[in-house]
Amino acid sequence: MSDKFYANLQNTLESLKTSGTYKNLKYLSSPLSNSAFVEEYGKVTILCSNNYLGLADKPEIIQAGIDALKKYGAGAASVRFICGTFDIHRALEEKISDFLHTEAALTYTSCWSANTAVIPAILGPGDAVISDELNHASIIDGCRLVGKDVKRLVYKHSDMDSLEEKLKEASDCGTILVVTDGVFSMEGDVAKLPEIVALAERYGAIVMMDDSHATGVIGKSGRGTAEYYNMLGKVDIISGTFGKALGGAGGGFIAGRKPLIDMLVQKSRPHLFSNSLPPVLAAIALAAVEYLESNPQIVESLRSKAKYMRQELIKAGLEPLEGDSAIIPIIVGDTAKAICIADAMLKKGVYATGFGYPVVPEGKARIRIQVSDALTYDDIDLSVRVLCECLRQSAAV
Ligand SMILES: *Cc1c(COP(=O)(O)O)cnc(C)c1O
Repeated sequence: MSDKFYANLQNTLESLKTSGTYKNLKYLSSPLSNSAFVEEYGKVTILCSNNYLGLADKPEIIQAGIDALKKYGAGAASVRFICGTFDIHRALEEKISDFLHTEAALTYTSCWSANTAVIPAILGPGDAVISDELNHASIIDGCRLVGKDVKRLVYKHSDMDSLEEKLKEASDCGTILVVTDGVFSMEGDVAKLPEIVALAERYGAIVMMDDSHATGVIGKSGRGTAEYYNMLGKVDIISGTFGKALGGAGGGFIAGRKPLIDMLVQKSRPHLFSNSLPPVLAAIALAAVEYLESNPQIVESLRSKAKYMRQELIKAGLEPLEGDSAIIPIIVGDTAKAICIADAMLKKGVYATGFGYPVVPEGKARIRIQVSDALTYDDIDLSVRVLCECLRQSAAV
C-alpha cells in the first residue's frame, strides 16, 4: 500500500472541505413521502427528491415488489442474453413502448447505464454527436465513450442558432445524433423539442432525448416532453429512468424504433456485460406505470402543486426561474450562501438542496426545490415560509 496515494487523497478531501464543496451524506430511515426521517434532523419535509408523483411509498407499488421477490427471487444473477431475461422484463418493455408510443423499448439497470449504452452503440467512425451544454453527466459520459473517429460537438443551452451551426459543422458526417435532456435538472426548463426536431430533419440528423425529469411529470398524462409538445412518436430515441417519478426504485430504459432496440440488444455493452434489471425493480416500475395510467389525475395534481409553489414564492417576493416542470430553482448568488441557506432550512425541518459551482455557473448558486405530489398545500406554505426566513437571515449576516 502506497502512503503517498492515501496522503494525496487526504489532501484533495481537505481542499474540498476548505472550498465548501465537501459532501456529507445524510441518512434516511423511513420511506420517502411528503416527509422522511433524516438522522440527526428528525422528520423533515422533503423538497429534494425525484419522487415527483409520490409513488415511492404507495402500498400497491410496494406490494408489486413483494410479489415479484416471491415469484422471481432476489435477482437475475446473469446478463440479459444468457439467463437474465425474465417475462417481467418483456412486460415492462412492452408497457413502456406502449406508454411512450414507440415501437419497442429495452430496460437497463439505470438511465445512467442506458445513456452510456446507446450513444457508443449507434455511432461509429465518420459519425457525429451534438449535445446541449447543460445535458446530464450520463449523456456527457456516453458521448465520451464514442471512438475518436466520431465528431463530438456541444451547442449552447437551448440555443437553436448554436445547434444549427454545429449541424452545419457535422454536415459531412454519416449518422448525426442530436442529444438533449427533456427537462433540464438544474434549470427546470423544457427543451425546445419542436425546433430541435425540425432542425434535425432539415440536416438529416436523428434526435435523442433524455426524459428522466419529465416522464410522469409533464405532458397531460405524464408521457413527458413529447406529449407536452404533442409530438409523441416523433423522437428517434427516448431514454428515461424508473428511479424518479416512476416509483423511484431504480432502472432505466431506451425507447424507439424496433431496429434501434434490436441493435442495442446485439451491441450495447452494459446490456451484454452487466446484470439485467433485477426482476423486483422491473415489477415495481411496471406497477408504477400502470398506476399512472389508471390515475392520470396525479399528473394534474402535481402540476397544480408546482404552480401553487411558484405562485407563493413570487408572492413572497422571490424570483424562481420560469418553467413548466416540477423543478423550481431560486438563484441566491454564491455557493457558500446556497449551502448555508439549505443547512438552515434543514435545521428548521425543510430539506431542499443548495447547488453551487461547479455544478452550476459561478455566481448562479441556487436552492433547488422539487415539488412532489406527496406534498400537501400546508407543506408548501410551510416550505415557502421557512425558505423566506432563512433567506432573510442569510442576508442579515
Ligand atoms: C437522474 C438522471 C439520470 C440518471 O438516472 P438513473 O436511473 O438514476 O441512473 C440520467 N439522466 C438525467 C437527465 C437524469 O436527471
